[in-house]
Amino acid sequence: MSLNSLVDSRDVRFTLFELLELEKLNRFDSFKDFDRSIYEDTLELAEKIAVEVFYPSNSDGDKIGLTYDPKNYSVTVPESFHKGFQSYMEACFHTLAFSQDEGGLGLPTSISMACSEYFNAGNTALTMYCGSVTGAMALILNFGSDELKQMFLPKMFEGVWGGTMALTEPSAGSDVGALKSKAVRQEDGTYLITGQKIFISNGEHDMAENIIHPTLARIEGDPPGTKGISIFIVPKYLVNPDGSLGERNDMVCAGIEHKMGLKGNATSTLSFGENGKCVGYLLGEERQGMPIMFQLMNQARIHTGVQAEACSSASYLHAVTFARTRIQGAHITQAADKTAPRVPIIEHPDIKRSLLYMKSTVEGMRMLCLFLAYHEDVMHASKDPEEVKASKGIVEILTPIVKAGISDEAWLVTSESMQVHGGYGYCQEYPVEQYARDVKVFCIYEGTNAIQSLDLQMRKLLMNPGMYNYSQLRKHMNDAIDKARGMVDEKYVEPVERGLAKLDEVIEMMKKQLGEGKIMALVLNATPFQQAMFPLIMAWLHLWSLSITTPKMKELLGDAKGEERQKKLADDPEAAYYSGRVLSSQHYIRAEFPKFFGKIEALMNGEIAALKADSPVFTGAPLE
Ligand SMILES: Cc1cc2nc3c(=O)[nH]c(=O)nc-3n(C[C@H](O)[C@H](O)[C@H](O)COP(=O)(O)OP(=O)(O)OC[C@H]3O[C@@H](n4cnc5c(N)ncnc54)[C@H](O)[C@@H]3O)c2cc1C
Repeated sequence: MSLNSLVDSRDVRFTLFELLELEKLNRFDSFKDFDRSIYEDTLELAEKIAVEVFYPSNSDGDKIGLTYDPKNYSVTVPESFHKGFQSYMEACFHTLAFSQDEGGLGLPTSISMACSEYFNAGNTALTMYCGSVTGAMALILNFGSDELKQMFLPKMFEGVWGGTMALTEPSAGSDVGALKSKAVRQEDGTYLITGQKIFISNGEHDMAENIIHPTLARIEGDPPGTKGISIFIVPKYLVNPDGSLGERNDMVCAGIEHKMGLKGNATSTLSFGENGKCVGYLLGEERQGMPIMFQLMNQARIHTGVQAEACSSASYLHAVTFARTRIQGAHITQAADKTAPRVPIIEHPDIKRSLLYMKSTVEGMRMLCLFLAYHEDVMHASKDPEEVKASKGIVEILTPIVKAGISDEAWLVTSESMQVHGGYGYCQEYPVEQYARDVKVFCIYEGTNAIQSLDLQMRKLLMNPGMYNYSQLRKHMNDAIDKARGMVDEKYVEPVERGLAKLDEVIEMMKKQLGEGKIMALVLNATPFQQAMFPLIMAWLHLWSLSITTPKMKELLGDAKGEERQKKLADDPEAAYYSGRVLSSQHYIRAEFPKFFGKIEALMNGEIAALKADSPVFTGAPLE
């Protein structure tokens, strides 16, 4: 495994430093002490740990998997996971983006997210155990009392305790408000928790001394629905006043799921208070559980997009490596000559198309994730209220697109990588079928993609007075069009401009539907709308990057053609990079993006047959 085969590090640098000009963040006090060399060192360390420790354990998670022992409710992870967890924590990746005041390293989220791509491409199941610590810590830092901070944070900062987020219950999946877990107030200010949570990632394992579960429950007597929900910190082991581990809390892992993918991650059933003694500590105020948990959920949604992007990246690069070495068939121009030499499949036009689809999609996904991360950084670091508001608007609107758009597409990219591998792609000897199985759940957890689409369409666009979120994003899109015009061939500018106008038409139509109270027709189009907006966002980012890559490519390649061009590409990695990046964007805008217009046509048709499709019309399955 060469260092470059999980993530294209050159493209990570391009996105961070040439497209987003990350060093401009140094104008903010929070980042003024950082420079490119610190960023480079951090990225290189992440890559080293991901390639040398995470990736070699990836198939252990899949093939050896987890062992659940019902006698002591324990979960044992593959031996190789331990080293990964330790390396990650010892290098402080779990506190990378916490501010220095909070005890973290204070690096930009953009860098932390770029590092996360390496870890997830190396081993997503393992990265989840590591990343969930950060999520639980952030909740305690932002909402915990001094007492809670003192009790839990030191060991979490040290990297020896784990974390989760425990929302889902058997009858409360997408409908979180239906949860039944109960909390009863005690005289000492703690709460006794009873109930069951299912599907809890990282819920039990043997890599951490203790596991901290931010858990949603309803305090006895509180109203039904989301408004009555509170959030509690429920530790696996109680904590003594001196910070050492106390007795075992009355909560256990009652089992783990046997899944299609992510087999190295313990998707746990957690049972709270079977003996009536499960202690929980209230986080924030009573009945503030949902707004508090939303902070973690928003981050988790963004990270789900990054997981999907990272697995797509690794799958794509595996496909390139395979296509360069797999010899099959003659070159198409010599197809009639039975004695013609056989060529690597990368010479076949259909494989080139397939690889360029994956390359352009992965690069678009990366730009999208890091653009969002950049605005998270501005949002937290800027002291200018207008700038903060603008960046917040961008983060809000892009969060469901990063989560749903990227995860939907990752399922297609990983499948395409299997296709490039032919029969070998379907066999366990090659790593790509694992990536394909691993990515499917990204469309499902952290709020299904249908729920993300509703969030985008209703909450972020239509119910938002003045559609502030969208207007901020649209401004960036218009800027990219203006910048590209004159620098980039018009045939790549025009479709993006036309696409934006079409999206405006759809938004106007949806606003009208909302005004007329046609809610059913509106929500019917939530997923198709999200699935249309995603390629438009990707096309815009590719157009933006073309304004940078096109002149660079011209500078490095000049007018070289034919053999001279091939020699330059082979001899100069920078010429190869910029040339590939230009081709990638050109391919995306003119060969992939046009499907957007078909999606728009479907939206504008306003077909509502699906609304009339009541249960009995789906004949062939038993009617309950
Ligand atoms: C591997 C894995 C890890 C997980 N990790 C965690 C975790 O760490 N913590 C945690 O709390 N949960 C976790 N989950 C649970 C996950 O978040 C839920 O599975 C998810 O939210 C969907 O809930 P559900 O499975 O009950 O499906 P349902 O909510 O029953 O949904 C079934 C289908 O109906 C659709 N649907 C439901 N309601 C609506 C609606 N109002 N409008 C439109 N469509 C709708 C859904 O989109 C979906 O297609 C995990 C799940 C898995 C599989």
